[in-house]
Amino acid sequence: MQISLARQVALVTGASSGIGAGAARALADAGASVVLNYHSSAGPAQDLAREINANGGRAIAVGADVSKEQDIERLFAQTLEAFGTLDILVANSGLQKDAAAVDMSLEDWNTVIGTNLTGQFLCARAALRIFTRQGIRQGVSRAAGKIIHMSSVHQRIPWAGHINYAASKGGVDLLMQSLAQETSHQRIRINSIAPGAIRTAINRDATEGEQEQKLLELIPYGRVGDVEDVANAVVWLASDLSDYVVGTTLFIDGGMSLYPGFRGNG
Ligand code: NAD
Repeated sequence: MQISLARQVALVTGASSGIGAGAARALADAGASVVLNYHSSAGPAQDLAREINANGGRAIAVGADVSKEQDIERLFAQTLEAFGTLDILVANSGLQKDAAAVDMSLEDWNTVIGTNLTGQFLCARAALRIFTRQGIRQGVSRAAGKIIHMSSVHQRIPWAGHINYAASKGGVDLLMQSLAQETSHQRIRINSIAPGAIRTAINRDATEGEQEQKLLELIPYGRVGDVEDVANAVVWLASDLSDYVVGTTLFIDGGMSLYPGFRGNG
């Protein structure tokens, strides 16, 4: 079945690399106009925007730090200026700053929570202000707006050495559910995707060479995920094919969250 997001506008944060870039490309392939947010380096997002425009789509690249309120206000204002509306937010930006709890600096704790959790709140709030103002755009989508939070299997699986990251994603889970409870009567659909191990810059060390073999012990399906595994789900969750899916988390993890260590043990 062909999914069409024609006449819809999507904003993807952290779209200069990895899952964000893949999601933006897939949304554009499905016909959406796309705003590609980048953080510090403009080049890759601008290249992707050029590629989408050259292929007959519509895309712009806009810099913003998702942890900064003023940046987010400007990002959403530029989105409306360029495309006049917003239908889909993919709140994807995220980072890791790993350390044992006893060694973790307050700065690294705050940076991860600020980007991964506060950043998702700021983006969701800005999107909701637009969605509630504009309501359902008849003939475009059955929903008044869609938000997809990029969470992680670590919203459920504790992660020693990564307490700031796991806490941020645990926070995203109840942020998403509470927002969905608050807004679904307005026909706004909010859901999360919880990826397992997807081959991107964030986990390059864990997905190459000997480390990959170790990682595969945690993945019953027997392979590391690709960006497209997540990007395809983003398109589905953004489309009317998932119109009755509200306030849920889709785990895309090759079975990682099934606790495979318990198979034949315990
Ligand atoms: P990535 O490092 O390629 O992408 C992260 C993106 O976030 C980058 O483009 C980066 O510039 C952006 N970013 C970081 N700080 C930012 C800020 N302050 N403002 C705006 N943008 C900022 O890694 P990825 O794997 O594509 O990660 C994307 C999302 O997927 C993250 O939220 C991550 O936690 C989540 N995730 C990834 C995996 C995986 O295995 N790759 C697993 C679970 C969850």
